[in-house]
Amino acid sequence: MKIALFSSKPYDQEYFEKYNVDYQFDFTFFETPLNSHTANLTKGFDAICTFVNDKLDAKTMERLAENNIKLIAVRCAGFNNVDLDAAKAKNIKVVRVPAYSPEAIAEHALALILTLNRKTHKAYNRVREGNFSLNKLIGFNLNNKTIGVIGTGKIGATFCKVLSGFGCEILAYDVYPSEALIEQGVKYVSLDELFKQSDIISLHCPLLESTKHIINKDSLKLMKKGVMIINTSRGALVDTADVIEGLSQNKIGYLGIDVYEQEENLFYQDLSESIIHDDFILRLNSFPNVLITSHQAFFTKEAMFEITTTTLENIKAFKNGEELVNEVN
Ligand code: NAD
Repeated sequence: MKIALFSSKPYDQEYFEKYNVDYQFDFTFFETPLNSHTANLTKGFDAICTFVNDKLDAKTMERLAENNIKLIAVRCAGFNNVDLDAAKAKNIKVVRVPAYSPEAIAEHALALILTLNRKTHKAYNRVREGNFSLNKLIGFNLNNKTIGVIGTGKIGATFCKVLSGFGCEILAYDVYPSEALIEQGVKYVSLDELFKQSDIISLHCPLLESTKHIINKDSLKLMKKGVMIINTSRGALVDTADVIEGLSQNKIGYLGIDVYEQEENLFYQDLSESIIHDDFILRLNSFPNVLITSHQAFFTKEAMFEITTTTLENIKAFKNGEELVNEVN
């Protein structure tokens, strides 16, 4: 089976070549992202493998169907970048990796919190330059702080567990509250109540019409002055312009983001010698209390193993005509 893997990075190739030994699929690795302009590269392949910023819209789907692509194996959990109706209309199956190490993302959210709070990134640079001063490095204890968790699925639930270890009070909002979390002491409240009471708000819900820009100027008005906002879920959960305004007004005390609404033109690329034309990211980078990582929360050895082996199993099931347990429809 011939598979074109898009948005390929050296680590993707390393993991897929290592574990494909047991499957013997014929992979071609394309560095370019997939979109309607690059979709012609899929000619001669049976399936494609894509990642978070590949653009699988109706136009791309047309090209894929013309090239007889029968399977899209998404090597991530989120599928907001895939037009599922268009895929169905063209009889192209879509499979994904529904769960891979929720700990990887929950622990990265914690890393953002601790770094922003205790300023270890600044301390590291200072000490290396012989500056041993503590001025402006003051943080706060997480113990007894109120953490608001929006979305308590696999990642949100793991995040609740991790944060309870710090002695935090955990408030949560989800359209489907979890009995198991309630038993562990998590308190479900309305979204407004969560915004009002939380010292730290962490987003773990999917990007849907109902969750787009859930952090905006109206929700910011409800929050405590100096609130910390953490987004490791999807960029468009946050209205970037409103958040920049909130940072300028000192309403937001700290912002940690692993995802960004316009990330597809920036993330996963080395642009250090380029002129960056995205004024929002430049403005965000100008704040001393903003920490941005380039969609790396998933990036642990354990998660890469799960992503690779589940994707290979998904493709194998399709090839053998077996039930597609990880199909998205
Ligand atoms: P999940 O499906 O297990 O959980 C999502 C939860 O959100 C569910 O409990 C669902 O009921 C809830 N939800 C749905 N609509 C909601 C709404 N309107 N308000 C509040 N909650 C709502 O998903 P997961 O595996 O926990 O992943 C969560 C998100 O994390 C994914 O959608 C993806 O966008 C993101 N993610 C990011 C990375 C990364 O590297 N940064 C990696 C994996 C996943």
